[in-house]
Amino acid sequence: SASQLIEQDDWVIIDGDAGVLIVDPSPIILAEYGFRQRQGELERQRLNRLRHTPALTLDGQRIELLANIEMPDDTLGAVEAGAVGVGLFRSEFLFMGRNGKLPNENEQYMAYRKAIDGMQGMPVTIRTVDIGSDKPLDRPTAKAQDGHLNPALGLRAIRWSLADPPMFLTQLRAILRAAAHGQVNLLVPMLAHAHEIRQTLDLINQARAQLDSHGLAYGPVRLGAMIEIPAAALTVPVFLKYFDFLSIGTNDLIQYTLAIDRADESVAHLYDPCHPAVLRLIADTIAECNAQGKGISVCGEMAGDVSMTRLLLGLGLRSFSMHPSQILPVKQQILRADTAKLKVWANEVLKSENPA
Ligand code: PEP
Ligand code: MG
Repeated sequence: SASQLIEQDDWVIIDGDAGVLIVDPSPIILAEYGFRQRQGELERQRLNRLRHTPALTLDGQRIELLANIEMPDDTLGAVEAGAVGVGLFRSEFLFMGRNGKLPNENEQYMAYRKAIDGMQGMPVTIRTVDIGSDKPLDRPTAKAQDGHLNPALGLRAIRWSLADPPMFLTQLRAILRAAAHGQVNLLVPMLAHAHEIRQTLDLINQARAQLDSHGLAYGPVRLGAMIEIPAAALTVPVFLKYFDFLSIGTNDLIQYTLAIDRADESVAHLYDPCHPAVLRLIADTIAECNAQGKGISVCGEMAGDVSMTRLLLGLGLRSFSMHPSQILPVKQQILRADTAKLKVWANEVLKSENPA
C-alpha cells in the first residue's frame, strides 16, 4: 500500500500527464519537474489569450467547444475556459458515494438548476445516470458487482435506469423541471436496442404527464442519445428517427469495439482509438448525422486529445465536448486547421491498416 512506500514528510511528484507518482525524487528529478511546472504555467498563460477567440478554422468553419462536467460547480471552470456550453454533465456523480441513498427529485432539480445558472444562458447537456461498471454507486456496495463476471456488459447506465422506473422517473422529472430555467439537452447513455429507445421516450412522456398532473412547471428539452456501443454505431438511422442529436462516447465505444476493459491496466496497450474499426464507426456515425442535418458531437476523451483534433475535423466533426482544461489546447489546433484539406487526408487515414 502507499503507506509502505511513502514516509512521513517525503516529497511526492504527481505527473498527471504521464499518470505517474514519483516518491522521494532525487534533486535532479525535482529540478526537472520544477522546470516543467514553470513551462506549463507559461504555456497556460499563452493559451489563456485564446479564451475569447472564436473557434474558427482557417477556412472559416465554426467549431463548437463544450465542457464535460461532473458537478454543478464545475461550470465555473467551463466558463473560464471559454466553453460555449456543457456537452456532458455526468449526472451519476450526484448519485455516487452516498451509501446507496439516492438524491431525491428536489435535490437533483437544484443541482441541475445550479449547473444551468452557472452556464449563464448557454446550453447544458445533462446525461441521465450512468451507474455501474467503472462508476459503481459507492465503494462498499460495489462488492455487490463482484458476482458479475463482466460488469461493463451488465446492468449499467440506461439498463440500470430502465430496471427501476420510479428512480428513473424521479431523475427525468428533475431534469425537465430544471429545463424551465435554461436550454437543456437530455442525453441518454448506452442505448443499443430500438425497444430501449422507445421505453426511454415513453418514460420521458410519463414524467411530463406526472409533472402536468402536479401542476409543476417544466421546459422543453432536445433529446440525444450516446453512441457508445458498436451495435448503436451500426444502426445510427434508427437512432436518428427518434433523437434530435447524437453524442459519441469514444471511451466506451473503443472498449466495446476492441473488447478491452477500459479500466484494466494489463490490456491498456491494446486500447487504441486509432484502430481502423473504431475510426470506421466514428466516421460513419458523423457522416450519417451530417447527411441528415442532425447534431453530432464527441464527448469521450478523444474529443480533448489534441493529437486527434485534426482527424475528427477531417471526418466532419464540428462539435467537441471535453474536460475544461483541454478546451484551449484544442482550440489552438482548430485555429491552425483547414477542414477542406483535412477531409482528403482523413479519408486516406481511414483506408490505412495502421492509422496511427
Ligand atoms: C464515453 O464512454 O466516452 C463517455 C463519454 O462516457 P463515460 O466516460 O462517462 O462512460
Ligand atoms: Mg460511456
